Parts: sequence; C-alpha cells; structure tokens
Amino acid sequence: MTLSSEELLAGLLDWVRIETHTPDTAGLNSLMDLVESQARAFGATCERFPGVDGHGDHLLVSSPWGDHSKPGVLLLSHLDTVHPKGTIDKDLPIRIEGDKCFGPGICDMKGGAYNGLAAMRAIAASGVTPPLAARILFTSDEEVGSPTSRALIEKIGDWAKYALVTEPARNGGHIVTARKGVGRFTLKVEGRPSHAGARHWQGRSAVTELAHQIIALEAMTDYDREITVNVGQITGGTGTNVVPQFASAEIDLRVPTLAAADEMVARISGLTPKTPDTKLIVTGGMNRPPFEQTAAGKDLFDRAEVLAREIGFELVGEKTGGGSDGNFIAQKVATLDGLGPDGDDVHTLNEHILVSTLAPRMQLLKRLMETLD
Ligand SMILES: [Zn+2]
Repeated sequence: MTLSSEELLAGLLDWVRIETHTPDTAGLNSLMDLVESQARAFGATCERFPGVDGHGDHLLVSSPWGDHSKPGVLLLSHLDTVHPKGTIDKDLPIRIEGDKCFGPGICDMKGGAYNGLAAMRAIAASGVTPPLAARILFTSDEEVGSPTSRALIEKIGDWAKYALVTEPARNGGHIVTARKGVGRFTLKVEGRPSHAGARHWQGRSAVTELAHQIIALEAMTDYDREITVNVGQITGGTGTNVVPQFASAEIDLRVPTLAAADEMVARISGLTPKTPDTKLIVTGGMNRPPFEQTAAGKDLFDRAEVLAREIGFELVGEKTGGGSDGNFIAQKVATLDGLGPDGDDVHTLNEHILVSTLAPRMQLLKRLMETLD
C-alpha cells in the first residue's frame, strides 16, 4: 500500500485545521486526542503525559510491532505552532496554489509529524515486522524551547538506538545532520557608586567596566570556527550624575561542537575585571547542546541516502545554526533531522509545503523504520 501525496495531504489537513499555538492547551489537547485515536485504530499503544505549567499534553505512540524492552527507533515531532488561534480563519487560510499548500504549522511541523504516523500505520497494515520497535513522541512546547518536554525527550532518548526528527526539510529538500549549540549568559558588573561631581575619583564605574567586557566578549566571535558571541542587551547606571554601581549584559553564544562549548563556557565564565575594585558575576550556560554529527549519525545518514535514492530522490545533508529537540539527544543517539516534507516561510503568514514531497518523505520514514537494525 503506497499512499499518494494527495491522500497524505487530505489526512494532514485534518491536523492543520485544529489550531495548536503553543499556549493554546485546549487546541493542543484536542489534536493529541485525534492523533491518539488514529494511532490506537491501527493497534499502537499510547501513553499521555498531562500538560504542566500551562502547556499541553505530550503523547508517546508505540508501534504495534517489536520488542519495546530493547532499544528502537524514536521519532521526535512537535505539534505546537507559532501561529495564534484564529490565524487559519484570517491571515493564513488553507489554500493550494500549484504544488504549494499553505496553512498554519503545515510545514513546521505538522507535515513531518503526520508523515511519521502515516508511515507507522502503513507498516502496521503491511504485516511486515521490522527489526526494531518504533515510537513517536508528540510534544506540545518545542516552539518555546521545550521546557516541559526536555526531560521526557532525554528519558525516551535513552531507550532509542536511532532518532528521526521530523522538522521540515530546508533549502530545496536538504536534511539536517548538525545544529549549533546555544548558550545564554548574564554578566553582572558591580563597581563603587560615587557623586559624579564632588567625588568622581572615589567611584568605580560598572558601566565603564561593562564596556571593556563587551569588547572582550564580541572579540570571542570566530567565524572560521563557527563560534559567535553576541551581546544582545545591556543595562546600567541610575543617573547621569552618579558613577554607576551596577551594569549588566545578556549574551548569546553559538558553538558547533561540544569541545567548543566547553571552551567558550569556560572563557565567558572566567572573565576577569579590567577596572580595579570592580566585580563580575557570570550566570548561565549552555541551553541546547550542539548537535554534531557522530560516527553513528554519519552511518545513519549513509543508510538514509541509499534508501532515498531507491525512492527516487537525492538526500543532501547540511548544518544549521538553529536548535531543535534533536540537540538534546544527538550526542548519545544516531540522529537525523529535517525529515519532514520540503516547504518554506515557516513561522510566517506564507508558511507552506510542497505537496509533491509528502509521499517520498513519508516513504523515507517508512523505509527507515522498516530497515534500521
Ligand atoms: Zn519545528
């Protein structure tokens, strides 16, 4: 049984019609209900993790085949989108233009998420028993950094031998083999306050010291090594006639490797004051670790490349600067990302998929689940 892209689109649009902006727990949970009922209908086992801290539920779907006590194949899919409720009625109604189908979240990432479940259903219907069990984790908070799903992703990641992330393909169908890690820091400077007129010499300016530190931080950027340090926000001082006691900066760090992460965290945490009698306090650290291609990840890519060629398309891997849920487990588990359908303009009111990429991409997920061992 091979589904056409048009048949897949019909099922996908049922998921897109239920809007699931991250804070919209009612919308998210009603889509989780639909996904759960569709999964149970072909014999999959479902486990619901009730939402906490104002987020929606998460749902773990386990394949009807395979020995789930042994490591298997994990698909990571988020069902939340960045589009507020009502977007589908006004600003981004579902519409088809040629090969493009527009709709909120259709590309990021309901297309890939739907394809994963469709692939599992197709395998269950075929009667073939793949070598490994498979699971799909549908989460509700990826677009805000996965605060309530990260621990679950890491825990189920411990079970996984392979991880397939159904984020959209990019730049003409490329899949993602590496993502940069993201670090966040706050630097607080404490100086000594003083009257700017009467006793200027007694003061130790936190703002002046922060200025030195900003220059030092920005100088850590090294494009050749794919490392960037960005001071994105600063505050300091209380009035023009006061030598400022406090100043602070918010810092964003991007690194391609774990080694670079360790090095840069140490450098940023180890900043020392240049002005006498001032003090620096650095807090923060890595938020998402880098997802660098491991040997096992390369091997997984090579296998996927062969399967894609059999299906009829060329698989091209690329590195990207943005993070995904794959970052949480890629160092331990062979991971491929960007396995969703091709499309563009995600997070905008032009978000769309290329409909003709649905079937081959679903087929690739199916063949990976059928053959990985
Ligand atoms: Zn996404």
